[in-house]
Amino acid sequence: MTNKELAELIFPEIHETIEDLEKRYPKRNLPKDAEVTRFAPSPTGFLHTGSLFTAMICQKVAKQSGGIFYVRLEDTDTKREIAGSGEKLLSQLKLFDVYPNEGYMADHEEGEYGPYCQSDRASIYKICIKHLIEIGRAYPDFCSPEDLEEIRKKQEALKLNPGYYGEFARDRSLSNEERKERILKGEPYVIRFKSEGDHNNKITVHDLVHGYFDIAQNDQDIVILKSDGLPTYHFAHAVDDHFMRTTTVIRGEEWISSFPIHVELFEALGFEAPKYAHLPVIMKLDEVGHRRKLSKRLDNEAAVSYFIEDGYPTKALIIYLMTIANSNFEEWLLQNGYNDLDKFIFSFDKMSLDGALFDLNKLQYFAKEILGYKNKDEILEMSLDFASKYDPELLSLIERDREYFKEIMNIDREKENPRKDHYCLRGLKDYIGVFYEDIYDELLKQGFEFNEKYNHLLIASTLEKIRDTLSLDVDEQGWFQNIKEVANEQGFAIDRKAYKANPDAFKGQVGDVAEMLRVALTGRKNTPTLYYVMKVIGEENSKNRLSKVISSLTK
Ligand code: GLU
Repeated sequence: MTNKELAELIFPEIHETIEDLEKRYPKRNLPKDAEVTRFAPSPTGFLHTGSLFTAMICQKVAKQSGGIFYVRLEDTDTKREIAGSGEKLLSQLKLFDVYPNEGYMADHEEGEYGPYCQSDRASIYKICIKHLIEIGRAYPDFCSPEDLEEIRKKQEALKLNPGYYGEFARDRSLSNEERKERILKGEPYVIRFKSEGDHNNKITVHDLVHGYFDIAQNDQDIVILKSDGLPTYHFAHAVDDHFMRTTTVIRGEEWISSFPIHVELFEALGFEAPKYAHLPVIMKLDEVGHRRKLSKRLDNEAAVSYFIEDGYPTKALIIYLMTIANSNFEEWLLQNGYNDLDKFIFSFDKMSLDGALFDLNKLQYFAKEILGYKNKDEILEMSLDFASKYDPELLSLIERDREYFKEIMNIDREKENPRKDHYCLRGLKDYIGVFYEDIYDELLKQGFEFNEKYNHLLIASTLEKIRDTLSLDVDEQGWFQNIKEVANEQGFAIDRKAYKANPDAFKGQVGDVAEMLRVALTGRKNTPTLYYVMKVIGEENSKNRLSKVISSLTK
């Protein structure tokens, strides 16, 4: 029986050839240097921060070269699939503006190179596998899980590499007659690739991040078609990246070890291999100072949903990931600002080879910058969006009076050097709570912490004097002048210098008085400019608050 007859026996329903596929998916009509990139997630869970990193770079490379960025759903591992995760991945990518021009779009597909879900491409893979069987580069393997286990044990005892290769590739040498007989008997089988490589040989491969390097040739007869009729990743990616006309495969470094398999598959299929870029893995320092991969299980920040659900501005994560991607980005950012990141030209040459350490503080710095420069209307819009999804209590506070919320959030905002208190919206509820009288009353009941140096009577009498002379009809300076006068009357130095020169002569200095007022009005030692806080609370309410504190101190 010839290979062709065997191929026909296995795939009688397949009539098309690789040539037909070449015609169906012609080379793309794009300018010479335009890159076609793809993000190829498996719908097996949430969007990992490392995956967002990859997708972001895929998009960047395509966009800056006038090419195409598409998404392909790699859903051939039906056992690991989590329902709905494909849709979720896409909606999360959208929040980060990492959106494809083509491909799988959750509720529909766009583009001429589909279908873009691998599970819908079974017949395409079969055309290619039929061809490999015909040319003697693929064959059916009838090993049961027990047979494979036995092979593994043998290899273990002999301290040899595990896998299905060389003399261990049991069914590689069956005759086509035997194969036919077993197939007709209904024995289950998978299809394996027939490798011609030798693990002791080295091949030189090229990668856009790592340059040229040597790596052992593939010798594994990997499974290319599983018994469920779907291909494995290795095979599917080769077929898809060829027929979807990907120019650069950008993926995580964990795939480098299977690079030789892919090189051999492309050769056997007669396809020109795309360029490859294996991106460094994002790392984290563990408790004892060791570097390890950012882990789904151990690290909140491994899932982008963590940042979404805490209300980080999504752009902050993109900016942060760009600093990991290219060493010259931060400098560029300093000169060009946050507004038009598309102008930055990404390059694989400027990517560090060591996995970057995830630095939450740095991300939070960018997030504070971004939130700090939003105007009050933008803050309202973002907060409503966040709160309606993730923080009902915050939502109900905002909805009491949207204008009032904007005034609170506008303190020390919309000026040259705004305060940058917030890196995410998660804590906003606590931050704004004290501006509402009922919440203030609750907080006061729990007690405020004044400086222990001062006894309650002194604090009360100082607050009383402030209350009785308080006016917000004056400007900030005028108001502070008044505080100084009270400070002076109460035996406090009116500036720090005077106090430092002769500390024993005073009870403290004007800052201590301002702190009493701050704590009395907000329960906190650190707030935006107190004068503006009071403006928002209002003069009457501020005085009422002081009266409440005074009576709680003198009870
Ligand atoms: N489906 C693979 C994964 O999720 C994609 C790898 C690739 O981009 O080729 O890891």
